[in-house]
Amino acid sequence: MIKKLLKRVFGRTARARVEGKCHIIPFEVHGVSRDGISPAARKVAEGLHAAGYKAFVVGGAVRDLLLGRHPKDFDMATNATPEEVRRVFRRSRIIGRRFRLVHVMFGEEVVETSTFRRLIEAEDAQTDEHGRLLRDNEFGDQEQDAARRDFSANALYYDPVSQEIHDYHDGYADIRANTLRMIGDPLVRYREDPVRMLRAVRLSAKLGMKLDAATAAPIAGMKELLGNVPQARLLDEMLKLLMSGHAVECVKKLRAMELHHGLLPMLDVILEQPLGEKFVMLALQNTDQRISEEKSVTPAFLFAALLWHEVLAAWKVRQGAGERPVAALHAAMDEVLERQRAQLAIPRRYDAIMKELWLLQPRFEQRGGQRPLRLLSQPRFRAAYDFLLLRCESGEVDGELGLWWDEFQDATDERRAAMLLPDEVPKKRRRRKKPGAKPEPEAAAQMALPIE
Ligand code: ATP
Ligand code: MG
Repeated sequence: MIKKLLKRVFGRTARARVEGKCHIIPFEVHGVSRDGISPAARKVAEGLHAAGYKAFVVGGAVRDLLLGRHPKDFDMATNATPEEVRRVFRRSRIIGRRFRLVHVMFGEEVVETSTFRRLIEAEDAQTDEHGRLLRDNEFGDQEQDAARRDFSANALYYDPVSQEIHDYHDGYADIRANTLRMIGDPLVRYREDPVRMLRAVRLSAKLGMKLDAATAAPIAGMKELLGNVPQARLLDEMLKLLMSGHAVECVKKLRAMELHHGLLPMLDVILEQPLGEKFVMLALQNTDQRISEEKSVTPAFLFAALLWHEVLAAWKVRQGAGERPVAALHAAMDEVLERQRAQLAIPRRYDAIMKELWLLQPRFEQRGGQRPLRLLSQPRFRAAYDFLLLRCESGEVDGELGLWWDEFQDATDERRAAMLLPDEVPKKRRRRKKPGAKPEPEAAAQMALPIE
């Protein structure tokens, strides 16, 4: 409708024009107004223009606007050097050592502004023995900046001042055809950076775009290259994937392309156990749902879910060998965390929350005396309860337990008193100790237990 109207009003003038290798698409054709750009990003563009530089919104934001989605941030690209950008904006700072970017601040908003970069020519490039690029940090011009980007849909430049889109790789047509297409030769581009294979899966799942055939075809044969990517980078990408709001779709695609081996070795193991798979998929579904409702999500919760069945298995083995339940749970958690560290590199900063979530689980079973009230007052109760509900839903524990806690949380004092089960756990007998005597090993273990 609108397109037809525009066509009538603007007639033949509403056409893309070509300048060198660049197609310049006017507002009348693409329809993305500068009103869709955040105020801070617009100010950055206007400031740089006024100072005589080029400045564009780039990457995911332009793509998302064309797809009618809400961009999560607005990154800028310019021909000004970081020092020049810095001089234009008083409230800005240069960040990064390898490739310097400028953060320009307007109120609460920070706009990441980077200088056009180029892909280093093959003979000068530093690569590892598999051809992975180790450096990608030379300044370049706009055309070179477009060529180093991954997908044509990610290589569009929007000028908020003129409202024109600059397109070097037919990204506009690809977006209109709902296709994600790698710029250049996909084989070369995956070799340069194998993470692009995961980006292909994540972006196509998240955006509902189909992968162009030539972009998808080499992935199966090249997936081993993911093994050479530094763990920290893989973890970053995995987090983006799990937190994309489309984690279920991403994991399904990863499995279909057999890419989950390199990425999530643990996922492989877990997905083979019937209860484990159900539980992990429910946890991913739950995260997707929360993200769509704009509720908070923590990676620690998801990691805890991914590893829960491993912990359960290790816990069972230890109890079978005669270890006391809670001491066995502590040992099982450490064992699983240590084992995955070598494969997944989940940072230690998540350990504390994961452990808390796991340790609170057996406490839900205790429904006598003061224990449920003490559990309710735990700061992590809510997350642990959400975790319990997933366990119920997956069939690992009886759904009745979840229902009980659902009611107990919001019940009146009288109702709570009626709900409490008879206290079956025998009271600990106090033994007289000689003053100054060391605690026995068993008693020492008890002191560290979360179950009173
Ligand atoms: P998202 O919406 O998830 O942020 P995005 O496309 O914006 O998606 P970013 O990681 O924010 O992803 O990257 C910004 C831009 O940088 C991309 O749009 C793309 O142009 C470029 N880019 C990112 N990663 C790569 C890569 N591995 N190889 C080439 N270009 C990349
Ligand atoms: Mg982005």
